[in-house]
Amino acid sequence: MAILKVVIVGAGVVGASCARSLAREGADVVLLEQGEAPGVRGATAAGMGHITVNAADEASIQLCILGRKIWREDAPPSSEEDGFVEIGTLWMAEDDASLADLGLAASRLNEAGVAADLLEGSSLFEVEPALARDLRGGLRLPEDGAIYAPTAAASMVGEAVQIGATIRTSVKVLAVERGQVLLDDGTSISADAIVIASGLEALELCEETGVSIPILPREGHLAITSRGTCVLNHHVVEAAYQQGALGEVEDTVACAILPRSTGQLCIGSSRRPRRAGEVDSELIERIMVRSERFVPGISGLPVVRTWSGTRAATGDDRPLIGALPGIEGVWIAAGFEGLGITQAPAAAQLITCSILGQESPIDPGPWDPSRQMATS
Ligand SMILES: Cc1cc2nc3c(=O)[nH]c(=O)nc-3n(C[C@H](O)[C@H](O)[C@H](O)COP(=O)(O)OP(=O)(O)OC[C@H]3O[C@@H](n4cnc5c(N)ncnc54)[C@H](O)[C@@H]3O)c2cc1C
Repeated sequence: MAILKVVIVGAGVVGASCARSLAREGADVVLLEQGEAPGVRGATAAGMGHITVNAADEASIQLCILGRKIWREDAPPSSEEDGFVEIGTLWMAEDDASLADLGLAASRLNEAGVAADLLEGSSLFEVEPALARDLRGGLRLPEDGAIYAPTAAASMVGEAVQIGATIRTSVKVLAVERGQVLLDDGTSISADAIVIASGLEALELCEETGVSIPILPREGHLAITSRGTCVLNHHVVEAAYQQGALGEVEDTVACAILPRSTGQLCIGSSRRPRRAGEVDSELIERIMVRSERFVPGISGLPVVRTWSGTRAATGDDRPLIGALPGIEGVWIAAGFEGLGITQAPAAAQLITCSILGQESPIDPGPWDPSRQMATS
Protein backbone atom coordinates (compact mmCIF):
# COMPACT_ATOMS: atom_id res chain seq x y z
CA MET A 1 0.00 0.00 0.00
CA ALA A 2 1.29 3.50 -0.84
CA ILE A 3 2.55 5.53 2.13
CA LEU A 4 0.11 8.31 3.02
CA LYS A 5 1.56 11.81 3.46
CA VAL A 6 -0.14 13.68 6.30
CA VAL A 7 0.51 17.32 7.14
CA ILE A 8 -0.49 18.38 10.68
CA VAL A 9 -0.95 22.06 11.50
CA GLY A 10 -0.01 22.85 15.11
CA ALA A 11 2.25 21.06 17.61
CA GLY A 12 0.27 21.57 20.81
CA VAL A 13 -0.64 18.44 22.76
CA VAL A 14 -3.31 17.51 20.18
CA GLY A 15 -1.09 17.92 17.08
CA ALA A 16 1.77 16.13 18.88
CA SER A 17 -0.54 13.22 19.78
CA CYS A 18 -1.79 13.01 16.18
CA ALA A 19 1.81 13.05 14.89
CA ARG A 20 2.80 10.17 17.18
CA SER A 21 -0.31 8.15 16.42
CA LEU A 22 -0.11 8.56 12.61
CA ALA A 23 3.67 8.00 12.48
CA ARG A 24 3.23 4.76 14.43
CA GLU A 25 0.75 3.62 11.78
CA GLY A 26 3.34 4.21 9.05
CA ALA A 27 2.14 7.55 7.66
CA ASP A 28 4.69 10.05 6.33
CA VAL A 29 4.00 12.86 8.83
CA VAL A 30 5.01 16.51 8.48
CA LEU A 31 4.20 18.58 11.57
CA LEU A 32 4.13 22.38 11.17
CA GLU A 33 4.35 24.72 14.16
CA GLN A 34 4.50 28.50 14.17
CA GLY A 35 6.24 28.58 17.56
CA GLU A 36 9.87 27.81 18.20
CA ALA A 37 9.20 24.29 19.57
CA PRO A 38 6.29 21.89 20.20
CA GLY A 39 4.10 22.53 23.24
CA VAL A 40 5.41 25.98 24.08
CA ARG A 41 2.52 28.08 22.74
CA GLY A 42 -1.26 28.06 22.94
CA ALA A 43 -3.36 26.31 25.55
CA THR A 44 -0.88 23.44 25.95
CA ALA A 45 1.67 25.82 27.44
CA ALA A 46 -0.96 27.36 29.75
CA GLY A 47 -2.94 24.33 30.98
CA MET A 48 -2.87 22.56 34.33
CA GLY A 49 -2.33 18.99 33.17
CA HIS A 50 -5.15 17.27 35.04
CA ILE A 51 -6.04 13.94 33.41
CA THR A 52 -9.58 13.05 34.41
CA VAL A 53 -12.79 11.35 33.40
CA ASN A 54 -15.37 14.12 33.24
CA ALA A 55 -18.92 12.96 33.98
CA ALA A 56 -20.70 15.69 31.97
CA ASP A 57 -22.38 13.18 29.62
CA GLU A 58 -21.96 9.66 28.26
CA ALA A 59 -19.99 10.73 25.16
CA SER A 60 -17.57 12.87 27.18
CA ILE A 61 -17.06 10.00 29.62
CA GLN A 62 -16.08 7.67 26.75
CA LEU A 63 -13.60 10.14 25.20
CA CYS A 64 -12.02 10.83 28.60
CA ILE A 65 -11.79 7.11 29.47
CA LEU A 66 -9.90 6.48 26.22
CA GLY A 67 -7.65 9.53 26.71
CA ARG A 68 -6.85 8.64 30.30
CA LYS A 69 -6.20 4.99 29.39
CA ILE A 70 -3.65 6.02 26.74
CA TRP A 71 -1.93 8.48 29.10
CA ARG A 72 -1.79 5.80 31.82
CA GLU A 73 -0.44 3.06 29.57
CA ASP A 74 1.50 4.99 26.99
CA ALA A 75 2.73 8.30 28.43
CA PRO A 76 5.89 9.57 26.74
CA PRO A 77 9.20 8.09 27.94
CA SER A 78 8.78 8.59 31.62
CA SER A 79 10.62 11.24 33.51
CA GLU A 80 9.55 13.08 36.63
CA GLU A 81 8.51 15.94 34.35
CA ASP A 82 6.40 14.40 31.58
CA GLY A 83 5.27 10.97 32.80
CA PHE A 84 1.75 10.22 34.04
CA VAL A 85 1.42 10.59 37.82
CA GLU A 86 -1.60 8.92 39.42
CA ILE A 87 -2.82 11.38 42.07
CA GLY A 88 -6.58 10.91 41.78
CA THR A 89 -9.26 13.57 41.69
CA LEU A 90 -11.33 14.61 44.70
CA TRP A 91 -14.50 16.58 43.88
CA MET A 92 -15.62 18.55 46.96
CA ALA A 93 -19.20 19.33 48.05
CA GLU A 94 -19.85 22.29 50.35
CA ASP A 95 -23.59 21.63 50.72
CA ASP A 96 -26.15 18.83 50.43
CA ALA A 97 -27.25 19.83 46.92
CA SER A 98 -23.64 19.57 45.63
CA LEU A 99 -23.22 16.23 47.38
CA ALA A 100 -26.38 14.95 45.65
CA ASP A 101 -24.92 16.07 42.29
CA LEU A 102 -21.72 14.20 43.06
CA GLY A 103 -23.81 11.11 43.91
CA LEU A 104 -25.41 11.26 40.44
CA ALA A 105 -21.98 11.73 38.83
CA ALA A 106 -20.71 8.68 40.78
CA SER A 107 -23.56 6.55 39.37
CA ARG A 108 -22.86 7.71 35.78
CA LEU A 109 -19.15 6.99 36.17
CA ASN A 110 -19.66 3.60 37.85
CA GLU A 111 -22.10 2.56 35.10
CA ALA A 112 -19.36 3.33 32.57
CA GLY A 113 -16.93 1.17 34.56
CA VAL A 114 -14.95 4.10 36.06
CA ALA A 115 -13.77 3.73 39.66
CA ALA A 116 -15.41 6.57 41.63
CA ASP A 117 -16.32 6.47 45.33
CA LEU A 118 -18.60 8.86 47.17
CA LEU A 119 -17.09 9.96 50.49
CA GLU A 120 -19.40 11.33 53.15
CA GLY A 121 -18.60 13.01 56.44
CA SER A 122 -15.25 12.27 58.07
CA SER A 123 -14.10 9.81 55.38
CA LEU A 124 -13.38 12.90 53.23
CA PHE A 125 -10.82 14.19 55.75
CA GLU A 126 -9.19 10.78 56.15
CA VAL A 127 -8.08 10.89 52.50
CA GLU A 128 -7.46 14.67 52.39
CA PRO A 129 -6.74 16.11 55.86
CA ALA A 130 -6.05 19.67 54.62
CA LEU A 131 -9.68 20.35 53.60
CA ALA A 132 -12.09 22.70 55.42
CA ARG A 133 -13.96 20.72 58.10
CA ASP A 134 -17.43 22.00 57.19
CA LEU A 135 -17.40 20.33 53.75
CA ARG A 136 -20.21 17.80 53.32
CA GLY A 137 -18.39 15.16 51.32
CA GLY A 138 -16.62 14.34 48.10
CA LEU A 139 -16.26 12.09 45.09
CA ARG A 140 -12.91 10.39 44.52
CA LEU A 141 -11.65 9.12 41.16
CA PRO A 142 -8.51 7.26 42.24
CA GLU A 143 -7.22 6.51 38.73
CA ASP A 144 -7.09 10.13 37.53
CA GLY A 145 -3.73 11.85 37.39
CA ALA A 146 -1.54 14.57 35.95
CA ILE A 147 1.04 15.13 33.26
CA TYR A 148 3.10 18.19 32.32
CA ALA A 149 1.74 18.87 28.83
CA PRO A 150 4.53 21.02 27.30
CA THR A 151 7.22 18.37 27.83
CA ALA A 152 4.82 15.50 27.10
CA ALA A 153 4.03 17.12 23.72
CA ALA A 154 7.74 17.53 22.98
CA SER A 155 8.40 13.88 23.88
CA MET A 156 5.59 12.63 21.64
CA VAL A 157 6.95 14.68 18.75
CA GLY A 158 10.41 13.27 19.54
CA GLU A 159 9.07 9.73 19.22
CA ALA A 160 7.28 10.57 15.95
CA VAL A 161 10.50 12.05 14.52
CA GLN A 162 12.47 8.95 15.56
CA ILE A 163 10.14 6.82 13.44
CA GLY A 164 10.33 9.06 10.40
CA ALA A 165 8.15 12.15 10.94
CA THR A 166 9.43 15.64 10.15
CA ILE A 167 8.79 18.69 12.30
CA ARG A 168 9.22 22.25 11.04
CA THR A 169 9.01 25.02 13.62
CA SER A 170 8.74 28.83 13.24
CA VAL A 171 6.57 28.36 10.19
CA LYS A 172 2.97 29.51 9.98
CA VAL A 173 0.31 27.91 7.80
CA LEU A 174 -1.63 30.70 6.11
CA ALA A 175 -4.23 28.63 4.30
CA VAL A 176 -5.34 25.06 3.76
CA GLU A 177 -6.46 23.95 0.33
CA ARG A 178 -7.45 20.61 -1.09
CA GLY A 179 -4.18 18.60 -1.20
CA GLN A 180 -1.86 21.34 0.08
CA VAL A 181 -1.06 23.91 2.75
CA LEU A 182 0.33 27.39 2.01
CA LEU A 183 3.08 28.69 4.31
CA ASP A 184 4.12 32.19 5.36
CA ASP A 185 7.53 31.78 3.64
CA GLY A 186 5.72 31.70 0.30
CA THR A 187 6.09 27.93 -0.21
CA SER A 188 3.49 25.17 -0.10
CA ILE A 189 3.49 21.52 0.97
CA SER A 190 1.33 18.91 -0.72
CA ALA A 191 -0.36 16.17 1.26
CA ASP A 192 -2.81 13.28 0.92
CA ALA A 193 -4.40 14.33 4.21
CA ILE A 194 -4.22 17.52 6.29
CA VAL A 195 -5.05 17.73 10.01
CA ILE A 196 -5.88 21.13 11.52
CA ALA A 197 -4.78 20.93 15.17
CA SER A 198 -4.10 24.62 15.70
CA GLY A 199 -6.25 25.14 18.81
CA LEU A 200 -8.00 28.48 19.04
CA GLU A 201 -6.33 29.62 15.82
CA ALA A 202 -8.19 26.92 13.89
CA LEU A 203 -10.90 29.57 13.78
CA GLU A 204 -8.93 31.93 11.49
CA LEU A 205 -7.40 29.11 9.47
CA CYS A 206 -10.79 27.59 8.72
CA GLU A 207 -12.24 31.00 7.87
CA GLU A 208 -9.35 31.46 5.40
CA THR A 209 -10.39 28.08 3.96
CA GLY A 210 -14.03 29.11 3.59
CA VAL A 211 -15.39 27.04 6.48
CA SER A 212 -16.96 28.67 9.50
CA ILE A 213 -16.32 26.71 12.71
CA PRO A 214 -17.81 27.41 16.13
CA ILE A 215 -14.71 28.12 18.23
CA LEU A 216 -15.05 30.53 21.17
CA PRO A 217 -12.24 31.81 23.41
CA ARG A 218 -12.39 31.08 27.16
CA GLU A 219 -9.67 32.75 29.14
CA GLY A 220 -8.40 31.13 32.34
CA HIS A 221 -5.99 32.25 35.08
CA LEU A 222 -3.67 30.05 37.17
CA ALA A 223 -1.06 30.50 39.91
CA ILE A 224 1.70 28.15 41.05
CA THR A 225 3.32 27.91 44.48
CA SER A 226 7.00 27.29 45.19
CA ARG A 227 8.51 23.79 45.49
CA GLY A 228 7.91 21.96 48.75
CA THR A 229 4.51 23.59 49.44
CA CYS A 230 2.29 20.66 48.46
CA VAL A 231 -0.27 20.15 51.24
CA LEU A 232 -2.65 17.96 49.18
CA ASN A 233 -2.78 14.31 48.11
CA HIS A 234 -5.29 14.72 45.26
CA HIS A 235 -6.29 17.15 42.57
CA VAL A 236 -9.12 18.84 44.48
CA VAL A 237 -12.01 20.51 42.64
CA GLU A 238 -15.20 22.06 43.96
CA ALA A 239 -18.41 20.49 42.64
CA ALA A 240 -19.62 23.81 41.17
CA TYR A 241 -16.62 23.88 38.77
CA GLN A 242 -18.63 21.75 36.38
CA GLN A 243 -21.48 24.27 35.98
CA GLY A 244 -18.98 27.09 35.37
CA ALA A 245 -17.36 25.21 32.49
CA LEU A 246 -20.48 24.33 30.51
CA GLY A 247 -22.88 26.36 28.39
CA GLU A 248 -22.59 30.13 28.09
CA VAL A 249 -19.81 31.35 30.35
CA GLU A 250 -19.79 34.91 31.67
CA ASP A 251 -17.29 35.23 34.50
CA THR A 252 -16.69 32.31 36.86
CA VAL A 253 -14.15 31.34 39.47
CA ALA A 254 -14.03 27.86 41.00
CA CYS A 255 -11.52 26.10 43.22
CA ALA A 256 -9.35 23.57 41.34
CA ILE A 257 -5.89 22.74 42.75
CA LEU A 258 -3.43 20.30 41.21
CA PRO A 259 -0.43 18.97 43.13
CA ARG A 260 2.58 18.70 40.79
CA SER A 261 5.31 16.07 41.00
CA THR A 262 7.69 18.95 41.79
CA GLY A 263 5.97 19.50 45.16
CA GLN A 264 4.18 22.61 43.88
CA LEU A 265 0.46 23.42 43.78
CA CYS A 266 -1.11 24.72 40.57
CA ILE A 267 -4.08 26.82 41.72
CA GLY A 268 -7.08 27.82 39.57
CA SER A 269 -9.33 28.39 38.00
CA SER A 270 -11.33 31.05 36.15
CA ARG A 271 -13.34 31.39 32.93
CA ARG A 272 -14.23 34.50 30.94
CA PRO A 273 -15.41 34.70 27.32
CA ARG A 274 -12.31 36.38 25.85
CA ARG A 275 -8.75 35.77 24.70
CA ALA A 276 -6.01 35.81 27.32
CA GLY A 277 -4.15 39.06 27.84
CA GLU A 278 -2.20 40.39 30.79
CA VAL A 279 -2.62 38.72 34.16
CA ASP A 280 -5.49 40.28 36.10
CA SER A 281 -4.34 40.44 39.74
CA GLU A 282 -7.89 40.96 41.04
CA LEU A 283 -8.96 37.74 39.37
CA ILE A 284 -5.99 35.88 40.89
CA GLU A 285 -7.09 37.27 44.27
CA ARG A 286 -10.63 35.90 43.71
CA ILE A 287 -9.15 32.49 42.87
CA MET A 288 -7.08 32.53 46.07
CA VAL A 289 -10.12 33.52 48.18
CA ARG A 290 -12.16 30.68 46.66
CA SER A 291 -9.31 28.21 47.23
CA GLU A 292 -8.97 29.32 50.86
CA ARG A 293 -12.65 28.41 51.37
CA PHE A 294 -11.85 24.75 50.60
CA VAL A 295 -8.19 24.49 51.69
CA PRO A 296 -7.62 26.79 54.69
CA GLY A 297 -4.14 28.31 54.73
CA ILE A 298 -3.49 27.90 51.02
CA SER A 299 -3.64 31.63 50.29
CA GLY A 300 -0.62 32.13 52.57
CA LEU A 301 1.65 29.85 50.50
CA PRO A 302 4.32 31.57 48.39
CA VAL A 303 3.19 31.97 44.74
CA VAL A 304 6.10 32.03 42.29
CA ARG A 305 4.21 32.65 39.04
CA THR A 306 0.78 33.59 37.71
CA TRP A 307 -0.38 33.39 34.09
CA SER A 308 -3.40 33.26 31.81
CA GLY A 309 -4.26 31.17 28.79
CA THR A 310 -7.13 30.62 26.39
CA ARG A 311 -9.22 27.49 26.07
CA ALA A 312 -10.92 26.89 22.73
CA ALA A 313 -14.59 26.09 23.36
CA THR A 314 -17.39 25.09 20.98
CA GLY A 315 -21.07 26.02 21.11
CA ASP A 316 -22.14 22.60 22.40
CA ASP A 317 -19.29 21.83 24.83
CA ARG A 318 -17.91 19.09 22.57
CA PRO A 319 -14.67 19.19 20.58
CA LEU A 320 -14.60 18.96 16.79
CA ILE A 321 -12.84 15.72 15.81
CA GLY A 322 -13.11 14.34 12.29
CA ALA A 323 -13.33 15.25 8.62
CA LEU A 324 -13.87 18.96 7.95
CA PRO A 325 -16.98 19.42 5.82
CA GLY A 326 -16.64 21.35 2.59
CA ILE A 327 -13.03 20.49 1.79
CA GLU A 328 -12.00 16.94 0.95
CA GLY A 329 -8.88 15.49 2.54
CA VAL A 330 -8.90 17.85 5.54
CA TRP A 331 -9.53 16.80 9.14
CA ILE A 332 -9.83 18.89 12.31
CA ALA A 333 -9.13 18.22 16.01
CA ALA A 334 -9.88 21.39 17.99
CA GLY A 335 -12.24 22.95 20.52
CA PHE A 336 -11.38 20.86 23.60
CA GLU A 337 -12.09 23.63 26.17
CA GLY A 338 -10.65 22.51 29.54
CA LEU A 339 -10.19 18.82 28.70
CA GLY A 340 -7.82 18.89 25.73
CA ILE A 341 -4.82 17.47 27.54
CA THR A 342 -6.89 14.54 28.83
CA GLN A 343 -8.58 13.93 25.48
CA ALA A 344 -5.64 14.58 23.09
CA PRO A 345 -4.46 10.96 22.70
CA ALA A 346 -8.05 9.76 22.23
CA ALA A 347 -8.71 12.43 19.59
CA ALA A 348 -5.48 11.36 17.86
CA GLN A 349 -6.77 7.77 17.67
CA LEU A 350 -10.09 8.90 16.20
CA ILE A 351 -8.33 11.07 13.60
CA THR A 352 -5.88 8.26 12.74
CA CYS A 353 -8.70 5.72 12.30
CA SER A 354 -10.73 8.15 10.18
CA ILE A 355 -7.81 9.00 7.86
CA LEU A 356 -6.68 5.38 7.51
CA GLY A 357 -10.18 3.96 7.21
CA GLN A 358 -9.80 1.83 10.34
CA GLU A 359 -12.50 0.98 12.86
CA SER A 360 -12.68 3.56 15.62
CA PRO A 361 -12.24 2.40 19.26
CA ILE A 362 -15.26 4.51 20.31
CA ASP A 363 -18.24 6.03 18.48
CA PRO A 364 -16.87 9.09 16.61
CA GLY A 365 -20.42 10.43 15.97
CA PRO A 366 -20.69 12.87 18.91
CA TRP A 367 -17.54 14.70 17.74
CA ASP A 368 -18.34 14.86 14.01
CA PRO A 369 -17.51 18.47 12.98
CA SER A 370 -20.38 18.60 10.48
CA ARG A 371 -22.90 18.75 13.35
CA GLN A 372 -22.61 22.51 13.68
CA MET A 373 -20.80 23.94 10.71
CA ALA A 374 -21.48 26.12 7.74
CA THR A 375 -19.41 26.27 4.52
CA SER A 376 -19.21 29.33 2.30
C1 LIG B 1 -5.96 27.73 32.21
C2 LIG B 1 -6.15 26.42 31.52
C3 LIG B 1 -6.16 25.24 32.26
C4 LIG B 1 -6.34 24.01 31.61
N1 LIG B 1 -6.26 22.86 32.35
C5 LIG B 1 -6.44 21.65 31.74
C6 LIG B 1 -6.34 20.44 32.49
O1 LIG B 1 -6.05 20.45 33.67
N2 LIG B 1 -6.59 19.26 31.84
C7 LIG B 1 -6.91 19.22 30.52
O2 LIG B 1 -7.17 18.12 30.01
N3 LIG B 1 -6.96 20.35 29.77
C8 LIG B 1 -6.73 21.56 30.35
N4 LIG B 1 -6.80 22.71 29.62
C9 LIG B 1 -7.15 22.62 28.21
C10 LIG B 1 -5.98 22.22 27.37
O3 LIG B 1 -4.83 22.98 27.74
C11 LIG B 1 -6.28 22.46 25.90
O4 LIG B 1 -7.55 21.90 25.57
C12 LIG B 1 -5.24 21.78 25.02
O5 LIG B 1 -3.94 22.19 25.38
C13 LIG B 1 -5.51 22.12 23.56
O6 LIG B 1 -4.42 21.65 22.80
P1 LIG B 1 -4.33 21.95 21.25
O7 LIG B 1 -3.13 21.23 20.76
O8 LIG B 1 -5.66 21.70 20.62
O9 LIG B 1 -4.16 23.53 21.13
P2 LIG B 1 -2.87 24.50 21.51
O10 LIG B 1 -2.22 23.97 22.72
O11 LIG B 1 -3.41 25.85 21.51
O12 LIG B 1 -1.91 24.22 20.30
C14 LIG B 1 -2.12 24.75 19.02
C15 LIG B 1 -0.75 24.89 18.38
O13 LIG B 1 -0.93 25.26 17.02
C16 LIG B 1 0.01 26.27 16.68
N5 LIG B 1 -0.56 27.03 15.57
C17 LIG B 1 -1.70 27.76 15.58
N6 LIG B 1 -1.96 28.26 14.36
C18 LIG B 1 -0.95 27.84 13.56
C19 LIG B 1 -0.66 28.02 12.17
N7 LIG B 1 -1.46 28.75 11.39
N8 LIG B 1 0.48 27.47 11.66
C20 LIG B 1 1.32 26.73 12.46
N9 LIG B 1 1.08 26.52 13.78
C21 LIG B 1 -0.06 27.05 14.31
C22 LIG B 1 0.13 27.09 17.97
O14 LIG B 1 1.35 27.83 17.98
C23 LIG B 1 0.09 26.00 19.02
O15 LIG B 1 1.36 25.48 19.33
C24 LIG B 1 -6.56 23.96 30.21
C25 LIG B 1 -6.51 25.14 29.47
C26 LIG B 1 -6.29 26.36 30.11
C27 LIG B 1 -6.21 27.62 29.28
